[in-house]
Amino acid sequence: MEEKTIQIAGSITVDELSKSLGLSVTELIGTLFKNGIVATINQRLDFETASIILEELGLKNVKLERKNTSTKTSNYHRELSDKAVLRPPVVAVMGHVDHGKTTLLDTLLHKKTVDDEAGGITQHISAYQLKHNDRLITFLDTPGHEAFAAIRQHGAMLTDIVVIVVAADDGVKPQTVEAINFAKTANAKIIVAINKIDREGADVNRTMADLSQHGLQPEEWGGDIVMVPISAKQNQNLDQLLDMILLTADLEELKADVDIPAEGLVIESHMETGKGSVVNLLVTGGELKTGEFIVAGNTYAKVRTMLDWQGRPRGKATPSTPVTVTGFKELPSFGDRFEEAKDEKTARKMALLNAQAASDESASTNVTSSDLLRMMSTADNSKVFNVIVKGDVLGSVTSVVDSLKLIDTGGEITLNIVHTGVGDISENDVYMAAGDNTVIYGFNVNVPINISKMAARDGVPVRIYKVIYELIDDAKREMENLLEAEIVEEDKGAMKIKGVFRTEKTSIIAGGEVLDGDVKAGYLARVIQGKKQIGEAEVISVQMEKNKVDNLVAGETGGLALKTTSKIDLQIGDRLEFFTRESKKRTL
Ligand code: GDP
Repeated sequence: MEEKTIQIAGSITVDELSKSLGLSVTELIGTLFKNGIVATINQRLDFETASIILEELGLKNVKLERKNTSTKTSNYHRELSDKAVLRPPVVAVMGHVDHGKTTLLDTLLHKKTVDDEAGGITQHISAYQLKHNDRLITFLDTPGHEAFAAIRQHGAMLTDIVVIVVAADDGVKPQTVEAINFAKTANAKIIVAINKIDREGADVNRTMADLSQHGLQPEEWGGDIVMVPISAKQNQNLDQLLDMILLTADLEELKADVDIPAEGLVIESHMETGKGSVVNLLVTGGELKTGEFIVAGNTYAKVRTMLDWQGRPRGKATPSTPVTVTGFKELPSFGDRFEEAKDEKTARKMALLNAQAASDESASTNVTSSDLLRMMSTADNSKVFNVIVKGDVLGSVTSVVDSLKLIDTGGEITLNIVHTGVGDISENDVYMAAGDNTVIYGFNVNVPINISKMAARDGVPVRIYKVIYELIDDAKREMENLLEAEIVEEDKGAMKIKGVFRTEKTSIIAGGEVLDGDVKAGYLARVIQGKKQIGEAEVISVQMEKNKVDNLVAGETGGLALKTTSKIDLQIGDRLEFFTRESKKRTL
């Protein structure tokens, strides 16, 4: 089947999508309808919704691609001037767990920076730089799923080269495939490091064959992917790997303009006591200097301090340099683009415009994937638990979200993560949560007093925790409250009717003999005529020889007043089966 790629810039209308797919609008609307979406021809669908629909349609030969239109696109692909200069490559190391990513980075860092007087690295690193053959290489230490998330959210292309680590004794595994897909989505060059060649059972050829099965053809075999057999642990061939990185960089002619206003991407952000917001940036163009104003997303900074990845102060940073800055008014998000502003007034204005653009963007998309999930789930009667998760650093947000996803409700409750982010609970969080039964969870963050007032006014629950499992327990309780209560019935006894004194629309007075168990006011009774149940009644009072009694037990004869919801034609010889019914809260 012919492969096809459809580019989506933000969102796509039903009409456009059907045309691109070569389907009739009716067919597409029909599929949407089946998934609980009543759509019109001009309805806009976001990227995720379109992907889900494609999957529903089973169109495996069609790929969706995000087209970058917003201000958040990567600077790496901007038009360069003639004056652009070479810059260090930005490299991400990815691969399956335990295949040796950490060991590779450790060995490289140790090897290349051991002489450095800065010595022990204690700060939270999300990027570092090595020197090889007197040239710099920037490594990003970004967990795969975060990089993916950033691409999805911001279209940020952080990396030029992805080094995929594959253990030669284990071969291609799910996260290897994920890494390959990531590199392709990010339009990055791939270099494969076939690791652990020192191990018994390592088979470089088999690993290469395995990789070619997954679309990566080794150069040795006439393909275009450089594969370097290494031992990260024993420091074998790492120089060759670095050579290959630089060679790839040369072939790609990675360049950047330096005489333009500084710009780049946010690669990490968190709050620190005494320092406020601490933000790691990757400069991608221009030169960033302390004292300058920069805007990222809906916030801005006057760059107060700037440190390199080893914590040494720097006055300026050139393209491909990772730096840590302080001075942001609020925490920008991972993947946000930053750009220089000429003064504070401009910075503030730009931040405001960005905030507006972001809300316009979400408003212009009629159907989002979370709407779709919500609709899909209501379609099969399951309930939705909406949450917003805020955390002090991205890692904690990810852990909380991952743990929330692990809560097993047997499919009865769908977890809908409305929004996640780094930083204190904000006005925007409360705004998003209002009116939708959404709980805001904060992990190691604060709620400013005005925000807490706003949340109270809008009836939005805000829960702050410092321990993950306590937060998860809270979420479990919330989800338990959504579970349908369990109905427990317990049999109590039976009576044979010997006399019917009155039957009215909603009440019966009758008498009989208790065959077993007992009967008491408050019990419910199934009314059995012959073999059939003809109704249900509630015992209001019990009498024995004109006196009200607490109960009648087996062998005793007495009278009952019963309440019914509709008229029951009770007859002599019918049987009442007594029981109690309780609804019990369920737990997870
Ligand atoms: P990660 O999960 O991809 O970061 O993998 P790690 O770097 O933590 O490595 C997982 C395990 O494999 C550790 O026990 C490492 O010591 C080991 N390991 C990594 N690289 C090599 C290698 O080249 N040779 C051998 N023999 N073991 C390695």
